[in-house]
Amino acid sequence: MERSTNGVHLRNGDGSGKLRGYSAWSLLQHGLTSSEWPRTWHDHDLRNSYDVVIIGGGVHGLATAYYLATNHGIRNVAVLEQAYIGSGGSGRNTAILRSNYLTPEGVRFYDRSVKLYEHLAADLNFNVMFSQRGHLTLAHNDSSLRTMRWRTEVNKLQGVDSDVIGPDKVKELVPYMDTSPYTRYPILGALYHPPGGIVRHDAVVWGYARGADAHGVHIHQKTEVTGIDVERGTVTGVRTNRGPISAPVVVNATAGWSTLISDMAGVEMPVQTFPLQAAVTEPVKPFLDTVVVSGTLHVYVSQTDRGELVFGASVDPFASYSIRGSLEFTEGVAGHVLELMPPLSKMRLLRQWAGLCDMTPDYSPIMGPTDVEGFYVDVGWGTYGFKAGPVSGEAMAACIADGRPPEIISAFGIDRFTEGRLVGEKGAAAVGH
Ligand SMILES: Cc1cc2nc3c(=O)[nH]c(=O)nc-3n(C[C@H](O)[C@H](O)[C@H](O)COP(=O)(O)OP(=O)(O)OC[C@H]3O[C@@H](n4cnc5c(N)ncnc54)[C@H](O)[C@@H]3O)c2cc1C
Repeated sequence: MERSTNGVHLRNGDGSGKLRGYSAWSLLQHGLTSSEWPRTWHDHDLRNSYDVVIIGGGVHGLATAYYLATNHGIRNVAVLEQAYIGSGGSGRNTAILRSNYLTPEGVRFYDRSVKLYEHLAADLNFNVMFSQRGHLTLAHNDSSLRTMRWRTEVNKLQGVDSDVIGPDKVKELVPYMDTSPYTRYPILGALYHPPGGIVRHDAVVWGYARGADAHGVHIHQKTEVTGIDVERGTVTGVRTNRGPISAPVVVNATAGWSTLISDMAGVEMPVQTFPLQAAVTEPVKPFLDTVVVSGTLHVYVSQTDRGELVFGASVDPFASYSIRGSLEFTEGVAGHVLELMPPLSKMRLLRQWAGLCDMTPDYSPIMGPTDVEGFYVDVGWGTYGFKAGPVSGEAMAACIADGRPPEIISAFGIDRFTEGRLVGEKGAAAVGH
């Protein structure tokens, strides 16, 4: 790998995967002149056939394309995105990463993702700003504490750093937190997970897009899939607003839209789509260097590198494809944040937004082949799927290349719902993200 003097290098977009180095001087020149920046990914004519068509230009679709190309040499791949890449949940989430789940299958899976995230900036040669600042899940009652002890044991058995701590240690980590016993929901303890943190979600999307593009993948934005062709139980291609494409492998990576796509292939999935809202405040000086989650109060808070506080909650209480913000959410989230950190009462909210979440009955994803030969799904990401982008991309690429799911996702097949092998993650995934 060629290194420039300041360590900045960009890949050529000619499919060669070669790196292009930039000196500090040439970066400055680019900034001060009108000379064109090299494109991070490129527009291509739509071919009438690809080896693999991936529907959905979020982190899952793009990561799958990237690992197909880099780990398996499968480069005749198209990612079809109806709008722009990252316009779904991947550009709307609150970017919390962690692996302190409840089931051994879940912990192993998400831990692999955290490990991939730790090296992602170097692998993609793109700063994804992963900050492992620690993740706190507060317990306000005995049953939460019990679940946290259970999670700690499962986590430790899988080699994941997490522990139950008391209110004093919580106060040490977050001095602004009201840990007194006189609040409506006193803090009895917390699950502390030091490797958890936040990442810059756009950078992850752009980094994967650039990496995939550099290895020959075609990313087609404004390309909506309108139908899927299946002949005698085998997928043969897709129809789009820009014309038909034939392909022996089609991957559904459309999260909140995933049932609409699977229906086109005649594959029924136990998924329902719910809106999830979030909000951000004006920026202030850094004071919160831990992610704080309260499942009981249905709220979580983190501070970005720009200084804004990011607030989130659980999904809206009804299934919908709407991405409107609501006053109920704003009121609820503000009230709950203030119960945890009263000194924030003077802060102003800047904006709020929503995204779509594809919820499964057991709060675990659905990954792998389906009854339609060549039609794969990577869905059911609910409110927690951004953190899984790297591992699911890696695993889905292996699944397509080898024709069978790798061990790390074998528990997440769609057949678990008919065979009664649910992977119940509600206790660790409901608000935790
Ligand atoms: C407010 C909010 C906060 C969240 N916080 C977290 C968090 O802190 N941590 C975490 O891990 N997860 C979080 N999530 C969940 C996370 O955002 C998603 O699980 C994840 O982004 C899903 O990624 P994806 O690539 O599967 O789907 P998406 O990013 O949604 O991409 C799917 C894409 O498919 C495209 N598409 C749909 N239909 C078609 C079609 N017919 N043709 C072509 N393209 C189509 C869409 O336009 C979309 O861009 C949050 C979600 C929200 C909404």
